[in-house]
Amino acid sequence: MGKFYDVAVIGGGIIGNSIAYYLAKEKVSTAVFESGQMGGKTTSAAAGMLGAHSECDDLEVFYPFARKSQQSYAILEQELRDLTGIDIRKTAGGIYKLAFNENEKQELLPLCSLQTVEWQDARFIRQAEPAITSEILGAAYIEEDVHVLPKAVCQSFCQGAQIYGADLYEFTHVYDIQKNGGIFNVKTQAGDFEAKHIVVASGVWSNTFFHQLGLANRIIPVKGECLSVWKEGIQLQHTLFHEHCYIVPRSDGTLVIGATMVENNWSEKPTIGGLAQMIAKAKSLLPAIERMKVASIWAGLRPQTFDGRPFIGHHPEDDQILFAAGHFRNGILLAPATGQMIKDFILQRKVDEGLAEAFRINRKSHVLV
Ligand SMILES: Cc1cc2nc3c(=O)[nH]c(=O)nc-3n(C[C@H](O)[C@H](O)[C@H](O)COP(=O)(O)OP(=O)(O)OC[C@H]3O[C@@H](n4cnc5c(N)ncnc54)[C@H](O)[C@@H]3O)c2cc1C
Repeated sequence: MGKFYDVAVIGGGIIGNSIAYYLAKEKVSTAVFESGQMGGKTTSAAAGMLGAHSECDDLEVFYPFARKSQQSYAILEQELRDLTGIDIRKTAGGIYKLAFNENEKQELLPLCSLQTVEWQDARFIRQAEPAITSEILGAAYIEEDVHVLPKAVCQSFCQGAQIYGADLYEFTHVYDIQKNGGIFNVKTQAGDFEAKHIVVASGVWSNTFFHQLGLANRIIPVKGECLSVWKEGIQLQHTLFHEHCYIVPRSDGTLVIGATMVENNWSEKPTIGGLAQMIAKAKSLLPAIERMKVASIWAGLRPQTFDGRPFIGHHPEDDQILFAAGHFRNGILLAPATGQMIKDFILQRKVDEGLAEAFRINRKSHVLV
């Protein structure tokens, strides 16, 4: 029999590694098992926006959780750099959520009632960003919805967790988990391991474990196709966002343009049609895109639950099994708060009851129809 851990995390994306980081920091013996490269799947596909406001469709649950997570990044940026030397490339500027007509403006006004969001007219915006289309009426300006480099965040969580004593197993697929006398036997391609707790953090691939663990839950993939271009000859300091399309100016001189929303599609390859749709949309926000050179193209699978909220918490019948999956469009944003919440569950510390209820895996109507 292999090594024994207090916690075995299945899945080495940003969620699994955030969990490992916060647990290892508390001296909990932790292992992360990852089929491929750490952060190599959906995490690498993300644009990295911390859109606590721009992605907010629910002020009661999503916003407080997302905002807490967003604010954790302010601490993590320095903490992870001091510990690992990795810069997570947290980039200021914020997001302009654009309105092209009066209807769109009216839709944005409730968001603008938050203290951290302000309405700005087109003239004002075009002074800051002259390359934006002249067609806009204005935008909700969200200074605090900054962005990070998802791979760098994941890598720094990994290295941080290792420094605090966690073991990370790359290219180590988990086939099965079996419980014997209160201890789990984790069967992997690198042999068997033992663990007191299991955390399923396998993103869109968590369905296998739901099934094995007797749950009817399902996560569906929502494919997102992206491209990046070299930002030549223009300035862009802010992320532009309109109807699920965004242009994110990265610190390496590229603009990330994303992303399509293709439901129930398991292919991780971008299509010409998807990219064409994104290019057309991006041109309507930033006409100069047309002459920019393509840096790269990619696609990733967002893990979507039946109600868009993640599953974070215990198995309904076994407190030694936990879930942290289904973060859909916001796993980068929500990773720190998710890691902290799972750590608190495992250490039996106080967890916000409202959030625990909202993210419970067996919450109402948990089966997709
Ligand atoms: C195009 C696109 C843009 C996005 N933009 C943003 C954004 O701007 N901001 C934001 O917050 N979010 C964004 N997201 C969403 C975000 O990327 C996801 O919510 C997040 O990456 C989910 O992380 P995860 O760790 O749950 O999943 P993953 O990163 O997919 O990690 C799960 C891991 O589990 C591993 N695994 C699966 N089965 C097993 C097994 N049996 N054994 C071992 N390992 C296993 C997989 O190999 C994988 O690496 C975007 C997503 C896409 C696709």
